[in-house]
Amino acid sequence: MEEQRLGITFLGAAGTVTGSKTLLEVNGLRILIDAGLFQGLKELRQLNWKEWPLHPSHIDCVLLTHAHLDHCGYLPRLVKEGFRGPVFCTPPTLDLADIVMRDSGKIQEEDARKANEQGFGRHRPALPLYTVEDAMAVLPLMRPCNYHQEVELGHGVRFSFFNAGHIPGSAGVRLQGAGRHIVFSGDLGRKKPLFLYPKEPPGHADYLICESTYGDRLHSKTSPYRVIKEAIWRAYRKKSVLLIPAFAIERTQEVIYIIHRLRMKKALPPIPVYLDSPMGINATEIMLKYPEWHRLSEAEAKAMVDAVKLIRDPRSSRALVHKGETAVIMAGSGMIEGGRILDYLERYLSDSDAGLLLVGFQAEGTRGRALLEGAGELKFHGRYHKVKAHIRHLDSLSAHADQKELLEWLQQVKSKPKRIFLNHGERHQADALRVKIETLLGWEVRIPRIGQYFALG
Ligand SMILES: [Zn+2]
Repeated sequence: MEEQRLGITFLGAAGTVTGSKTLLEVNGLRILIDAGLFQGLKELRQLNWKEWPLHPSHIDCVLLTHAHLDHCGYLPRLVKEGFRGPVFCTPPTLDLADIVMRDSGKIQEEDARKANEQGFGRHRPALPLYTVEDAMAVLPLMRPCNYHQEVELGHGVRFSFFNAGHIPGSAGVRLQGAGRHIVFSGDLGRKKPLFLYPKEPPGHADYLICESTYGDRLHSKTSPYRVIKEAIWRAYRKKSVLLIPAFAIERTQEVIYIIHRLRMKKALPPIPVYLDSPMGINATEIMLKYPEWHRLSEAEAKAMVDAVKLIRDPRSSRALVHKGETAVIMAGSGMIEGGRILDYLERYLSDSDAGLLLVGFQAEGTRGRALLEGAGELKFHGRYHKVKAHIRHLDSLSAHADQKELLEWLQQVKSKPKRIFLNHGERHQADALRVKIETLLGWEVRIPRIGQYFALG
């Protein structure tokens, strides 16, 4: 009989919110839960280049919880480095991860090209972490499976996905092996998501690995309907634009949904709404393709998308910039790190009639964060632009459970876990949640560091 062995190594999203990668070793199988990209600060991004503690070809399979870049964005590199096993994920995750990884490949290629042109970067020539072609090589390895579908991995190990309510297709993992139940939360959604089904309880768990992105705080209660309505009315009255930097997956569809609902209530002026983001359009179409994965009826989903003018080709995008129309325009990227939003800002950032609505978390070091912190000018397209546009931040639309919601979810576990690991959070976020769990639930809590291994009994 095979040795029953169980161990876990946190290879990413430990003490940070990006680079999700957790290696579970069970009965000789090596299972990687998520293969995400490190993002944000340079010290973190450099970790994407680090050599692996084990050769990727020795990993048996990947369980991918959802299609955000910090969960799937390392897969092309993993495959490039020799991984050949199956990547299990839900059907919407497969489609969404495909567009996210290809877009990331394009950005990696562009970054390497720019570094070579401008002569910066430590390596000559600068190489991309991976290319679009590498991203496309992941697709044949992906194995779609639905929520609650039991998948046998061999060696007495099996798992199933459950709904995490975070973005379309997002999942947590319930895994059984070596006589233990191990539950990975993935990224957990809100108690009442706008149009997704709410997350499921964890079930039985001897060991729980739980995210802690908002482990230290509660979400603002500001109504997103009110903020979006006010911002649109302002644009209409000023005969100007409302620009919304767009996060392609989930947030863009939420904003479209809110605008649709406001329109149905006749709460908005007659103003055209544009989505100028090929990736945002693709993500929206994937949502329409999977009607059973969200709560919207087919007719409602179609009506909400029909009310938005979709712009794919760069020529129409340039024409809209020049037109100077009174309109609501959503364009990527969400933290203003690149993309078509910069073309609009080139024209409108110094115009005090124009409005800019930031609809999500703005990470440190991004242009979006600089604007929130009151920057008087912003550098892009090779020069500085004065900031005069009216800027607002909508901080109540979040795809993550807050501290209260995380605790409520944990309390639903069917049996007291032997231990819980808190990942996917900055140190202070995880720590605040740890104190709450220890005090309220009396569980043993660990906050792993990157690279830390734990034997599980
Ligand atoms: Zn996520």
